Amino acid sequence: MADNDHPAARTALQARLADLDAQLARLRGEMSAERDRQPAGDVEDAALVITDENTDDALISTLSDDRAAVEAALGRIDDGSYGQCEVDGGPIEPARLAARPQTTRCVAHAA
Ligand SMILES: [Zn+2]
Repeated sequence: MADNDHPAARTALQARLADLDAQLARLRGEMSAERDRQPAGDVEDAALVITDENTDDALISTLSDDRAAVEAALGRIDDGSYGQCEVDGGPIEPARLAARPQTTRCVAHAA
C-alpha cells in the first residue's frame, strides 16, 4: 500500500490546511475586531468599513472552499482514491498533483 499512501501529497496538504486555518483565524479575528469598533460617525468611513468586510467575507469564502477541497483530498488519501480523476477514474498526472495536490481531475477534464 506504500504506493497509494502519497506521503508527499499528504505532507503538502496538511501544510496547506494549517496555512488556511491560520489565514481564516486571522481574518475572523480581524473581522470581529472591526465589528467591535464603534463607527466613526462619518458616512464615508462607514462605507469603507462595509467594503472591507465584504472583501473579507469573499476571502473567507474562498479560503473555506480551499480548505474543504484540501480536507477532501486528505480523505481520498485515506480511502485510497487519491490521484484518480473524478470524471473518468483515470490517474491524474503526477506533475498536476504536485502543483495542486487537492485537484480532483486530470488535465483533460480540468474545468
Ligand atoms: Zn479525467
